[in-house]
Amino acid sequence: MTKTIYWLKGLDCPNCAQKIALKVNDLEIVDYADVDFIQKKLIVKHKQSNIKSIEESVKAIVKKYEPEVEVLDYSKKHEHKHHHESEHCHCHGHEHGHEHGHNEAENHTFDIVRFILAGILFAVSKALPYELPCKILALCAYLIAGYDVVISALRNILHGEAFDETLLMFIATVGAVALGYYDEAAAVMLFFQVGELLQDIAVERSRKSISKLMELKPEFARIIKDGREEKVSPESVDIGDVIIVKAGERLPLDGVVISGESQIDTSAITGEFLPVNAHEGSTVSSGCTNLEGVIKVKVTCKFKDSAVARIMDMVENASEKKADTEKFITRFARVYTPVVVACAVLLAFVPCLFLGFSQFTKWLYRGLLFLVISCPCALVISIPLGFFAGIGGASKKGILVKGARSIEALAKCSIVAMDKTGTLTKGSFCIEKIVPDGITRDQLLEYAAFAESGSNHPIAISIIKEYAKDIPSGTVDDVKEISGHGISCNYKNKKIICGKSELLEENGIKVLPCESENTTVHVAYDGKYCGYITLGDEIKQTSKEAVSQLSKQGVETVMLTGDRKITAASVAQKLGIKEYHAGLLPENKVEKIEELIRTHGGAPVAFAGDGINDAPVIARADIGIAMGGLGSDIAIEAADLVLMNDDVLSIPKAISISRKTMRIVKENIVFALGVKFAVMLLGALGIAGMWMAVFADVGVALIAILNSMRCSKT
Ligand code: ADP
Ligand code: MG
Repeated sequence: MTKTIYWLKGLDCPNCAQKIALKVNDLEIVDYADVDFIQKKLIVKHKQSNIKSIEESVKAIVKKYEPEVEVLDYSKKHEHKHHHESEHCHCHGHEHGHEHGHNEAENHTFDIVRFILAGILFAVSKALPYELPCKILALCAYLIAGYDVVISALRNILHGEAFDETLLMFIATVGAVALGYYDEAAAVMLFFQVGELLQDIAVERSRKSISKLMELKPEFARIIKDGREEKVSPESVDIGDVIIVKAGERLPLDGVVISGESQIDTSAITGEFLPVNAHEGSTVSSGCTNLEGVIKVKVTCKFKDSAVARIMDMVENASEKKADTEKFITRFARVYTPVVVACAVLLAFVPCLFLGFSQFTKWLYRGLLFLVISCPCALVISIPLGFFAGIGGASKKGILVKGARSIEALAKCSIVAMDKTGTLTKGSFCIEKIVPDGITRDQLLEYAAFAESGSNHPIAISIIKEYAKDIPSGTVDDVKEISGHGISCNYKNKKIICGKSELLEENGIKVLPCESENTTVHVAYDGKYCGYITLGDEIKQTSKEAVSQLSKQGVETVMLTGDRKITAASVAQKLGIKEYHAGLLPENKVEKIEELIRTHGGAPVAFAGDGINDAPVIARADIGIAMGGLGSDIAIEAADLVLMNDDVLSIPKAISISRKTMRIVKENIVFALGVKFAVMLLGALGIAGMWMAVFADVGVALIAILNSMRCSKT
């Protein structure tokens, strides 16, 4: 199955978006389709062979519902920008923003002008003493303000599609005209249109400001070719190429500094405004900004594998993992409108059956009010926008959230399980003691380093570093890493085993007891015990604070580790963690997580880890959290949340952002539905008029949108 993403350029009606998604979903050749109104994209999953016919069908459907909307390839959305930028190379980024903004301002100018004109006509019509010119002027004002609504409504009628917002407004206002309320029809249409315009502007603004938070894509790379500097797109740079990054520029690719010295601002990636010193030999990540000098960087991976590309991929796909609240709103919207419309019809006719038809116009007017309120727009826009803003706000803090679903789960999370090594501790061990048994110290270290040369476990890395000599490839073969246990290999046709005491004992080797609280690695060669190495790992500075903040939030921390009980106990005690489980193999960690999920009665369980061996646990937990900087790609892949700054303190932060987002989302639901029902009730009793109904529609939507924006302020 393949996934194609279309960019619906110019999409501005959430209801139409929903309808388009439903229709595309109904296509025989489509397996699944969904729409993301905020990012204006249509996601279609289908069989590769159907791609051509799907594109045609999608275009046909979109043309039917939203003729102004263009269907483009989603990847074009970025290229579009770059195209602009390459024309104005020096002032990348801004130019496009300006032009875009300018265009939009122009579009709005046209609307604003016609709304003012309509307003003037309306005012004049109110002032005129004669009835007929009055009515004509009001009708003109109505058409100038709402001709697009009328056209769209007529189109809907032609297509036999009921219950579109424009159609409802059309019926309500035409009804008002039929009842003789000419000026009311004009005023309501004007009010509605102005509300819609403000709503559009608000959504557009927030879309932009949130996207900016997440927009890390570097515009160009300065590559050195034949001694000359050349500006190329980051995609075209190969591994091993050398690029130059000047002060104030963003690093386009991941690499190692080969000359120059500078301060690097990593805040775009990690959310921390702490400049990091970069000099010859430092690894630097794309997306960071070079603050001072000029540095030359040797590129270590292709753009598509770089930190920035990975992050952008995640953010782009975030909207696919919809929260239950969003799904509920979509389903609710589908029944809400027909129900309210049915109520409108009942309200217009039923009372007359009892009270006589002499007062039919009064009840019809009240029924029309219901039509105005029957659009669930406030919810359909503001709820996804709230989640989008929450995700954007989190990314500003260096927390990548892969979907609204995770925000929802995090808000309810009451237990976080954490891995020890690399998560609560720094994972960069220093050799504490080398205790040989029957051989020399250096020889013990050599055996260990030989075995570990095939691994990138933090333990392995520090042992190899301590050994500090080159290990020619081919020195050892048949390397077997036993996850959570250790590693074995063949050296001169004899076996080296290196790892936990249990691993050696399983192989029939007696180990020396070791009392140290630190992580211990035992080594055997050719079936004989050689001694052990103890390694100290520092606890991250912020771990303790994170545990205490979590407990203040009512969230319990549990430590899961593959290390020995004595080491685990000492770390847990230092951090104030009450529950810990030691000696766990990766599969035991999965079992523990399942047990926690079972015993916590439905509340989501989070797990934070770093290594490759943690990937299955990260995938199994309700909320998988991976360390982004140190963490392995597989762990990041499996995670719902990635902490770019490797800081566990981000976990309580993410929880508070999620809780705030959920609170705002709920506020919006209660507020929007509350006002709508209240106005319906008042309308049915004859207390509220059209004006109030329009407020309950567009006014409420506007307020809800503005409220949603608060989610990004953390
Ligand atoms: P954690 O759960 O704390 O992240 P791991 O599951 O990665 O720890 O490893 C658990 C234990 O297994 C380590 O403490 C170490 O004793 C042993 N171990 C794992 N991999 C290796 C290795 N490559 N070399 C030596 N020992 C290892
Ligand atoms: Mg680990």
